Amino acid sequence: MQSTTSEKLKQVWNGLAEDIKSEVGEAEFSAWISRICIIDIEGDVLKLSAPTNFIRDEVISRFSNTVIKLSKPYGKFHGFSRVSVNGIVLLDTCKERSNEDLPLKGIFILDRKFTFKNFIVGKPNEFAYAAALRVAESDTSPFNPLFLYGGVGLGKTHLMHAIAWHIKDTHPNKKVIYISAEKFMYLFIKSLRSKDAMSFKEMFRNVDVLMIDDVQFIGGKDTTQEEFFHTFNDLVDNNKQIILSADKSPSNLDGVGDRLKSRLSWGLVADIHPTNYELRLGILQSKSKRHRIKVPEKVLEFLAVKITSNIRELEGALNRIVAHATLVGRDINIDVAQEVLSDILRANERYITIELIQRKVCEFYSVKLSDLNSSKRQKSIAMARQVAMYLSKKFTTKSLPDIGRSFGGKDHSTVIHAVKRVKENMEKDGGFMTDLEILSKSFEK
Ligand code: ADP
Ligand code: MG
Repeated sequence: MQSTTSEKLKQVWNGLAEDIKSEVGEAEFSAWISRICIIDIEGDVLKLSAPTNFIRDEVISRFSNTVIKLSKPYGKFHGFSRVSVNGIVLLDTCKERSNEDLPLKGIFILDRKFTFKNFIVGKPNEFAYAAALRVAESDTSPFNPLFLYGGVGLGKTHLMHAIAWHIKDTHPNKKVIYISAEKFMYLFIKSLRSKDAMSFKEMFRNVDVLMIDDVQFIGGKDTTQEEFFHTFNDLVDNNKQIILSADKSPSNLDGVGDRLKSRLSWGLVADIHPTNYELRLGILQSKSKRHRIKVPEKVLEFLAVKITSNIRELEGALNRIVAHATLVGRDINIDVAQEVLSDILRANERYITIELIQRKVCEFYSVKLSDLNSSKRQKSIAMARQVAMYLSKKFTTKSLPDIGRSFGGKDHSTVIHAVKRVKENMEKDGGFMTDLEILSKSFEK
């Protein structure tokens, strides 16, 4: 089956997306359809791609009729499914939004939402943010290369896109390329196969700013590393800016030669740390403003406490709650959140268990675990027990009866009483409040 040229694909999708936007409205469009990109048209199959399973499924359930209706001018598409033969296929193959075979021309595939303005700054990412902003604002590169690293879903790609948008807005003539390391390797190997290594080299050597995302994938591939190294040196020698990201620091990259490792560390290496509660809450508050439905502050706080893995997952959780509330028409409260997000909450819970909380509280107050789980009413023991129950309620998704049971078979009403007492004491007693803050912090990743 003949595939369609990338120019044609872009035209089709731009047209179709505009039509969809006028039909569904700006908000729905930016929440869902803007996340979709076109992959190919093969005969009567239109292939679209979504960044996650969740978005794919939501788009299918919300917009299939609209998309099918509006796509009529572009082909004979009948159905809409994940695996259809005749119709529109929505895949979730692209991790990031990327139009796989679009030609490398200036800036491409960039996500409009990934700007500095939309990036919430907190302790864990302030250094990386400041470095990225500095590079974006400077004409002569102060740090070359800028190497951003951190765990998955913590904002590396967001910052790179933000730099690209900033440069595009302030210096429209500069040639900026953003590319994943995987795509870089793919293009390189393709050029070797078609014996056209020259145009590959030219493509990269003529840029002003080169950004390569997720360079950990370059490990182990010796010829690509070699090419990468040369491209890199050429650009730096000519004062062109290079920005790289990876999930590890240069020195910890697997399968990367020492020479390249050391070259990667020449400029500035900035890491993004795992999130803390304040950053998570700030991000949720900012993102929830973009939804038409209001999510109560208490629910945002609940999510910020419970979902500690990464920001992508946090965002996904918020979107899911809003989607659920829109579809089912129910008010959003903590119970609903708990029900709708049970899988995400369970996955995040792995980090903090009641046993861990008990152990830490016992250490903190020098109380024996056997006493904590006994019925002893001695003041210091009862207080430690109440604190541990309160923290279990705060940091795990266990039900009140479950928590009670984990403390030597107590009743759920004992847990309710404990939570109430701890809250009262925190209001009255500053020292107690500080203790709880220290304890709570020890559970934050
Ligand atoms: P990474 O590339 O590190 O895996 P991304 O940049 O793709 O992570 O970020 C994952 C998601 O979280 C994106 O939707 C991004 O917009 C969002 N995000 C990450 N950090 C922030 C932040 N500080 N403020 C707002 N959104 C953020
Ligand atoms: Mg990324």
